[in-house]
Formats: sequence, structure tokens, C-alpha cells
Amino acid sequence: MSEQVATAVSAEQAEQAEQAESAESAESAEPAPGVDQVRFRSDMTVELVRASAHDSDVVFAARVSTAGEQSLDALGEDASRSAGLIRYLMRARHGSPFEHNSMTFFVEAPIFVFREFMRHRIASYNEESGRYRQLSAVFYLPAPERHLVQEGKPGAYDFVPGTAQQYEVVVAQTQQSCRQAYAAYLAMLDAGVAREVARGVLPVATYSSMYVTLNARSLMNFLSLRTKRAGSHFPSYPQREIEMVAEKIEAYWATLMPITYAAFEAGGRVSP
Ligand SMILES: Cc1cc2nc3c(=O)[nH]c(=O)nc-3n(C[C@H](O)[C@H](O)[C@H](O)COP(=O)(O)OP(=O)(O)OC[C@H]3O[C@@H](n4cnc5c(N)ncnc54)[C@H](O)[C@@H]3O)c2cc1C
Repeated sequence: MSEQVATAVSAEQAEQAEQAESAESAESAEPAPGVDQVRFRSDMTVELVRASAHDSDVVFAARVSTAGEQSLDALGEDASRSAGLIRYLMRARHGSPFEHNSMTFFVEAPIFVFREFMRHRIASYNEESGRYRQLSAVFYLPAPERHLVQEGKPGAYDFVPGTAQQYEVVVAQTQQSCRQAYAAYLAMLDAGVAREVARGVLPVATYSSMYVTLNARSLMNFLSLRTKRAGSHFPSYPQREIEMVAEKIEAYWATLMPITYAAFEAGGRVSP
């Protein structure tokens, strides 16, 4: 056997061992939910897991242009003295100084939200696996205040509240169809079918969980597209559910980098 083939085999074996271990630990972690445990929720979870993100990170990165090694003095400096510089960088769309920071969030949201979220390529993701663990029996059900009726043309929709009857249809049909789908999923698992095959019947309303790590520049691009705000220079019309996630992420970021956040707001929420 050539060395290359031997290396490939051992890498594959290592991957299989890792997958078996992760499947085993997932199985032993807690009892798998049954169909009677199907749960519905209308909210999104966002937790800030870790951050190295300060307004002063923008300042030292920008200062290297004119100060070279003396820009090191700006490390950890009181950035409020440099608010004008940050506003200038934002206005001039001099974007790279906003990249020298990092934020990691834990998110729980329906799969259809993750599909939209992961279109944002300038971020790192790890999501729970439908191959190595039984997926949760938790599904998204719109809250009563979620507007149900779409008006307007593509790209400029408005959503208006539906009637009580329309909301009843949403609740009844969502609950019935999610329960039925989860029962079908469990029936396949009970019959010994692999999780990766059985999951095909689960709807995009199924909750998933992931970590996402991104920097402020990438986050501003995400927020400019996934929130709808009066006064935005480029109005966007995101789906409400990803906007719910974006709003929570935005609140964390505003606390971590208040001067950068204020400059983003003042500049019409344009990503630099
Ligand atoms: C309201 C709304 C409706 C949408 N509807 C649809 C839809 O119907 N169908 C659909 O498929 N998508 C849709 N999208 C997704 C959209 O097209 C983008 O894929 C998504 O918003 C991610 O944006 P982004 O590429 O700017 O982000 P990122 O991937 O994070 O990229 C950030 C920036 O990096 C640069 N960049 C990244 N990758 C490249 C590249 N390969 N080449 C050049 N520059 C790059 C660009 O400047 C980009 O803005 C929609 C998005 C929104 C907000």
C-alpha cells in the first residue's frame, strides 16, 4: 500500500471513529424525545459566547496607516477620543479596520432561518448534526403578533396583521403537520432507519442550533440586510424571523462596540 493510500485510510478511520464518538455521546446525553414531547415555540435564542471586540480595535488598525509601529499605543486606548476617526472610516467606507475583532454567538432558530443566515459567507458556522443526533421535537409556531398577510411587490413587501381566523389556520395546520412529521421521523428511527434518511420528512420549522463567529464589518453587512429600519440608506425587507435573530445580535454588538455602532447608525446603517 502506498504511503498516500495508507494516509487516506487512516484519515477516514479517524473520521469514522470521531463520528461514532460524537453519535455515542449524543445518544447518552439525554433520552431522545418521543412524539408526545413535541413542543412549539415562537422565539429565537441568541447568546453571546465569546467576544474580542472593542472600539479601540478599529482605532489601532486604522492608525497603522499614518503611525506605523506607534499605532501600538492605540491598543486598548480610550476610543471615545477617536470617535471622529471611526465616523470618518464608516463614512468613507474604509472597511478593513472594522475586521480586527471577533464575536461568537450561540443561536437556536428554525432551519429556514439558518438557511438564510448561512448565505452570509463571511462568517464561520458549526451546526448540530441531523446525522449524528436525533433532531429535537421543537418547532416554530408564529406568535399572534406576527403579521401574516403580504402586500406589495417583490423586493418591497409589507406585511399586515391577518384575521383571527387566519391565525387559527396557521396554528392548527402547523401543529398538525409538525406532529405528523415527527411521528413519521420516529417511526423510521424505530424501524432501524438511519437518522440521515429519516430526517428527510422533518419541516424547515424544526429548530436547530449553531455557533456563528464573525467580525464587526461582516456583522454590519448582515444587519444592513437582515433588519428593516426607517432611515436606512438602503432599505431591506428581511423575513421577520431572521430579523428577530439579527435584533438580538445587534443588541449585544451595540454594547461591545458602542462608538462603532453609533457611527453605523449615523451613516444610515451602510456596511463599510
Ligand atoms: C431581503 C433579502 C432577500 C433575499 N432573497 C434571496 C433569494 O430570493 N434567493 C437567493 O438565493 N438569495 C436571496 N438573498 C440572499 C442574498 O442574495 C445574499 O446571498 C445574502 O444576503 C448574503 O449577503 P452577502 O453576499 O452580502 O454576504 P456575505 O456572503 O457575508 O458576503 C459579504 C460581502 O463579501 C463580498 N463577497 C462575498 N463573497 C463574494 C463573492 N463570491 N464574490 C464577490 N464578492 C463576495 C460581497 O461584497 C458581500 O457583500 C436575499 C437576501 C435578502 C437580505
